[in-house]
Amino acid sequence: MRTKHLLAGNWKMNLGPTHARSYAAQLKEAIQPLSKTDVWVAPATISAAVVAEELKGTALQVGAQNVHWADSGAFTGETSPLFLKDIGATFTLTGHSERRQFFGETSETTAQRTQAALKAGLEVIVCIGEMESERTSGLTKRVLEEQLQPVLAGLSADTATKVILAYEPVWAIGTGKVASITDIQETHQHIQKVWASHNLPGTAVILYGGSINPTNFAEILALEEVHGALVGGASIKLDQWLELIAIAERTGV
Ligand code: PEP
Repeated sequence: MRTKHLLAGNWKMNLGPTHARSYAAQLKEAIQPLSKTDVWVAPATISAAVVAEELKGTALQVGAQNVHWADSGAFTGETSPLFLKDIGATFTLTGHSERRQFFGETSETTAQRTQAALKAGLEVIVCIGEMESERTSGLTKRVLEEQLQPVLAGLSADTATKVILAYEPVWAIGTGKVASITDIQETHQHIQKVWASHNLPGTAVILYGGSINPTNFAEILALEEVHGALVGGASIKLDQWLELIAIAERTGV
């Protein structure tokens, strides 16, 4: 069980090495000491090493947006979990909806990637979420169960403590649309039930993601079902990111 909020920034395919270093330097300079919030950033893979270097010695942790299931080999364009460890990364995302939608990733490959990352000693934020058409057809719970099944089936009591789930309705990502408070509560409660049905210890750490910004964040984070957020767009706007961090610090864990 985490004792702090987790605020993770997914920079997506933004901020190449030069910009990423300068953004990280500004963030390091501006950030206040934190007692209630862990702040993680996931730059593009090519920028991750410079960001890790820039943030070394701070409380900010650096990770990746995806990882491969093999340690090395003929997998053109992929990134080994060992390479991430090598640059000082501490976590990775897996199963982001953009990977599933645009790059054909499945829940099975998400599970394989998650396993490999855990084996390498990384923490993993596993992203799940339904498409708009699935929600309107009443399929949200079933879709989430199917996405979670192979991932949770591969966890042990030990590795489960290194997994964080991020519920990100696909229709809310980068659209300015946010799930209603009731939908977030009900969906996170359902995810907890799925977690428990796999006989995993404790409760799942569940982030919400999808168009989080300084205006909507406090209300969402105040929910006991929500343990933090995965943030895209607002995480690469320094003023908004700092504001989100300040809100997390102000909101009781
Ligand atoms: C994301 O990419 O995981 C995300 C939540 O993006 P945004 O905050 O821009 O909706």
